[in-house]
Amino acid sequence: MKFEFLGTSDTGGIPLHNCLCEICEEARKSGVSNRSTSAYIELNDGSVILFDAGYDLLCEKFNTTKIRAVFLTHFHADHCLGLIRLRKSADKICCYIPNDTNGFGDLFTHKDSIEYVVLEPFVEVVIESVKITAVPLIHSKPTHGYVLSTDKSIVAYLTDCSSIAAESLLFLQSMHIDHLFLDACYEPNYDSKKHLNWESATELIDVIAPQNGYLIHASCKTLLPLKQSGKSLKYSYIKNGFKVDV
Ligand SMILES: [Zn+2]
Ligand SMILES: [Zn+2]
Ligand SMILES: [Zn+2]
Repeated sequence: MKFEFLGTSDTGGIPLHNCLCEICEEARKSGVSNRSTSAYIELNDGSVILFDAGYDLLCEKFNTTKIRAVFLTHFHADHCLGLIRLRKSADKICCYIPNDTNGFGDLFTHKDSIEYVVLEPFVEVVIESVKITAVPLIHSKPTHGYVLSTDKSIVAYLTDCSSIAAESLLFLQSMHIDHLFLDACYEPNYDSKKHLNWESATELIDVIAPQNGYLIHASCKTLLPLKQSGKSLKYSYIKNGFKVDV
């Protein structure tokens, strides 16, 4: 099986609308559009489990593919906008969420085909041979990261957080993670109470000590100073299409 990223950017994506910076121009030249952070696992029977639903072209990408479940990290637009189209699916779709009674827009008023299931912290859901555990993260809305275990490897999808509480850190350390993906939305000089930056994210990855660590959820404003300084980071930012075997 594979765990693949549909997008690894922040809300605006890369290229950002009408931004002519070096990063955005490079993306235009290569014809690659990297949108909101989200990922999926393709199971052996071809069905998929989605992690977040912010990808603009979700319905096209998985047009006739069975979606076994969506594990939503939180109800910010860049992670849940895809549910607005997906809720018209001819199929019932189970969407696991953190306990957030506000949700987003009219998603809870018009649930249509989506069945929302609140996951309590550290509760495990098993789908086929994949075990998925909700790990609370600190962000501006109730937010979960997810740890996925298969027979082969353990992946942590930890997007959108400003820090990680002790209980979650202990859990993550106990899991012996193979691949850890962590929010590093900003460059270190940017003062944010909602997101990590590439320095604070690197420190946290070191504390969790996975086999491999990667940075996600960046904008061109994060990547441009990095490129211009020529600095190389201990853990790299990944792009859409990045995948690992699980
Ligand atoms: Zn740009
Ligand atoms: Zn967010
Ligand atoms: Zn986000």
